[in-house]
Amino acid sequence: MLFQRADRLNGIELSEIVQISEAAARLRTEGRDIVALSTGEPDLPTPPHVVEAAHAAAQEGRTKYPPTAGVPDLRTEIARQAGVEMAQVIVSTGAKQVIANAMLASLNPGDEVIMPAPYWTSYSDIVRMAGGMPVVLPCPMEQGFKLQPDQLEAAITPRTRWLMLNTPSNPSGAIYTQDEITALTAVLARHPHVWVLADEIYQHLSFVPFVSVADAAPGLAERMLIVNGVAKAWSMTGWRIGWGIGPAELIKAMVAVQGQVTSGACSISQWASLAAITCDPSLLAERCDLFALRRDLVAAGLNAVPGLRCDAPDGAFYAFPSCAELLADNGGPFKNDADFCAWVLEDAGVAVVPGRAFGLPGHFRLSFAYAQDTIAAGLERLKSAVERKLS
Ligand code: PMP
Repeated sequence: MLFQRADRLNGIELSEIVQISEAAARLRTEGRDIVALSTGEPDLPTPPHVVEAAHAAAQEGRTKYPPTAGVPDLRTEIARQAGVEMAQVIVSTGAKQVIANAMLASLNPGDEVIMPAPYWTSYSDIVRMAGGMPVVLPCPMEQGFKLQPDQLEAAITPRTRWLMLNTPSNPSGAIYTQDEITALTAVLARHPHVWVLADEIYQHLSFVPFVSVADAAPGLAERMLIVNGVAKAWSMTGWRIGWGIGPAELIKAMVAVQGQVTSGACSISQWASLAAITCDPSLLAERCDLFALRRDLVAAGLNAVPGLRCDAPDGAFYAFPSCAELLADNGGPFKNDADFCAWVLEDAGVAVVPGRAFGLPGHFRLSFAYAQDTIAAGLERLKSAVERKLS
């Protein structure tokens, strides 16, 4: 009997980001020189004091099953920094698992989750795997890639369970201001059945003032989940630690899910994460400054390519330029954004991800979580390839 996939996996495949990274790796094994600007993984090392804390934890025998919700020392510190109780904190195997736990814990079949596009690719797949329905609201470049209050109002139905907000955003780098959050909050005040998931994993990579949704919308505290983690700012993608902060009843339900999936996050990584989040803040500031320099390089480089338009992102380490002028709809040589990205990989040897993977076609995502030389080489190749194509 052939293997039969469960219905819940319908339409769910390896993410396009992973597929492109794998295609780039394949071309490399064929001897091609490829510049990958496709992955959201900082090139910097994990800070040495974090590695030392992990080493010490292992040597001290902190190697047994941790409590399902997380090591109390880490939960307590996260709670202290957020000004909440420990019962309002769950530590999971990456921020991704926090989101998956929340969706599995709360969605019934057909429940709707509003996600402004462009959104991080996994949001829609996680929601669908949990039985929910993504409701995608296009937020074009002209509105700064941000959700407008009237769009939100029009999209809410009795089946709406969550609004997903990601600030700073992957892939656009957009950061919501206090006023913008207040305006969205005014809409949500009229719809008390809608919860907010605020994914703030790029918080410490903000080039303009960052406002946490928790601080900007205290009135929503009883229906808000804040998601954060160590992966991005501390270069700890492989340690797999993220956390959620929310009402104790929600956290309890998420712990129930987690207990049946992983039994809790890696104990050694949790001790390492405690060292990370109690570090000298200058470490994060230095890293943020470095990404700001790269951001400037990327925005200038992309705008120098004929047919591309890019607003400098306010945070995270992605640019999300428009390639619309190069597409067939506007008389350009490429069918769509995916066609353009496939050509960029093949012809220029640069890996970037089409906007359709983020729910907003006509764009592509370029990650600048790479060394400056790599970014500069990628931009130069992109520019000369497009110029050749258009000449
Ligand atoms: N949220 C966003 C917006 C992300 O970009 C990512 C990682 N790409 C995650 C969550 C997941 O982070 P983690 O590696 O901690 O699972």
